[in-house]
Amino acid sequence: MRTIDKSTGEIKTIKIRGLWSHFPIPAYQVLAAQREWSAQKLLTCLVSFLGKDDLCVFPSYRTISKRCGLSPNTIRKSLGVLEDYGFIKIFRFTQGKKDRSKYYFQECCWDSGKMNKKALAARVFTDKCLDCGKLMDRGGYGTGPMGKIHYGCGGSVLGLKASQAARKRTYPLRDITGTYLPVTEEEH
Ligand SMILES: [Zn+2]
Repeated sequence: MRTIDKSTGEIKTIKIRGLWSHFPIPAYQVLAAQREWSAQKLLTCLVSFLGKDDLCVFPSYRTISKRCGLSPNTIRKSLGVLEDYGFIKIFRFTQGKKDRSKYYFQECCWDSGKMNKKALAARVFTDKCLDCGKLMDRGGYGTGPMGKIHYGCGGSVLGLKASQAARKRTYPLRDITGTYLPVTEEEH
């Protein structure tokens, strides 16, 4: 039975009975930031083959193409992109005379704290864990009654904005003619 907040329309409980998916928002955001649209589309497509219990899918190129419209060449290239970013690992094997692949989703699709360097370069850190010192973005923490909590260690997370705003300019600026401008206190 689902309950709805009548003033806001917010649905409090949703029981999923039919199609299930596990949309990897952090990975999706990285691919968007890098304008890797085909790889992003492919990742979403692969997710649509996921079952409830494991993180491995093995559709053929033909099946992938039918579902998302990418050509075999684009699929091949996009798989390379997803591998480079560490979002999937590919296990290649032959079945009869056919080359087949199994695609294993990696945790970094959902947890930016586990992303490789290439993927992390596309993220902008907004928060820091006060316990372990790790820098992270929205994908790295959850929010609850205790505030922001780091998924990795369970520590409290604080936004970086406060410390950035406090930083002052310490070098003199010059205008286009080379004349030094008076040093001013940076506004907070
Ligand atoms: Zn931590």
